[in-house]
Amino acid sequence: MINALDTFTDSLPNTDLIAKYNQSCPRYTSYPTANVMKPLEPWVYSAALLSVKEKPFEPLSLYLHIPFCADICYFCGCNKVVTKNRKEADKYLDYLAKEMAMLENLIKKRRTVNQLHLGGGTPTFLNDGQLTRLMTLLAQHFKLSKDETREFSIEVDPRTVNASTLALLKGLGFNRISFGVQDFDSKVQKAMNREHRLEDIEQLVAQARLLGFTSINLDFLYGLPLQSVASFARTLSALIKIKPDRIALYHYAHLPERFKSQRALDRLGVPDSQLKLTLYQQAIDNLTESGYRMIGMDHFVLEDDELYSALQHKKLQRNFQGYSVKKACDLIGLGVSAISQTDSMLFQNAKSLDDYYQALDSSTFSYDKGCLSNETDTQTRSVIMQLMTTFQVNIQAFESTYGVSFKQTFARALSALTPYIKDGLVEINKTWLQLTPKGYYFVRQIAAQFDSYHNNNSTEFSKAI
Ligand code: SF4
Repeated sequence: MINALDTFTDSLPNTDLIAKYNQSCPRYTSYPTANVMKPLEPWVYSAALLSVKEKPFEPLSLYLHIPFCADICYFCGCNKVVTKNRKEADKYLDYLAKEMAMLENLIKKRRTVNQLHLGGGTPTFLNDGQLTRLMTLLAQHFKLSKDETREFSIEVDPRTVNASTLALLKGLGFNRISFGVQDFDSKVQKAMNREHRLEDIEQLVAQARLLGFTSINLDFLYGLPLQSVASFARTLSALIKIKPDRIALYHYAHLPERFKSQRALDRLGVPDSQLKLTLYQQAIDNLTESGYRMIGMDHFVLEDDELYSALQHKKLQRNFQGYSVKKACDLIGLGVSAISQTDSMLFQNAKSLDDYYQALDSSTFSYDKGCLSNETDTQTRSVIMQLMTTFQVNIQAFESTYGVSFKQTFARALSALTPYIKDGLVEINKTWLQLTPKGYYFVRQIAAQFDSYHNNNSTEFSKAI
């Protein structure tokens, strides 16, 4: 069997292969994916929440969406509300408090929250008082873990914080932090309408380390307008000097027909597939030479980071926030557009603030769409998540867990994989379906062949490169 990841850097596919398979696919942070959700009867959501209460000894994961941003970044595809009025956040916290109280009523404080993630928007749009109020509310309505192994993380826009904000966040219980940087080049930053100084990022990371945050992450994008091999080399060199524990390097998905703000970038154009591939290769080479290990799609970590050891021991998990070491457990999403996930269901809060507020004014949850998983979805999820976290599927283990034939259950997918096998991207025998190192670059496309909801001609998602 191929030793996953060791040969990653020597196996870049050629442009013909990329052109052949560079279709638009989900990132599979969940299966089924969020786009298949549809409106459901209200009792279905309540049943899903009640099932959460039935597992008192399992940990619970919470996601809180803070939708506000003081300015818009043109590349952004997130659900956000651009405003400079901080009072909007006070009103929003009032409604989050209502939602938390309703959840407490239903699921009680029986399960310990060992994963908490604040995302956005910009969570640090909230000022110190608002952040403190938010954590106080959470502690009132949920049983928050005090264990050191808990993962309480926050996405930070470096333009919105200073050393004292970081100290406050640590004091409030956060132990993981992720800074959204995207690029250090001033021209690229200006074009994105997101400017910050390298020195500020260096200082913030140093401060976060001093305060005891672990697994510090920096987010970057490749494929942005104005990025060149030379500018990206400078960005990578600065990044390597800072040496965060984790780096998330995402492909910029230019989908102006879906995200209005990206239309501001149309006049600049985006790098073509060949340049994007070169930037990606440049990142892989530079980061691996500097001690980083690629642990799966988009993510690099230092060898002493727990994600690396999870990868080696095949314990890596994938969830809406990317990769994690914690076993996927039920996730409750709070706030506008937040997604919840239980064993059998995905469901999402209303996407507009008005709809979210209106539902809570009538003392009802604002869940407006969801998706119930059937047995086939559960089996497919297990295959797709194995591919996303290990680049392989243990066929024998699958068959003994589910009591069905892998070949028969996934006959359509296996037939669709024929060209991938011929092109040396996938190998299959009785025991394993295994991606080759060249195939790692196509993990999303290969996973998509198992996805019974996915259409290979879809343009709904970003392309892999
Ligand atoms: S990238 Fe982040 S800070 Fe910028 S507009 Fe999007 S959500 Fe807001």
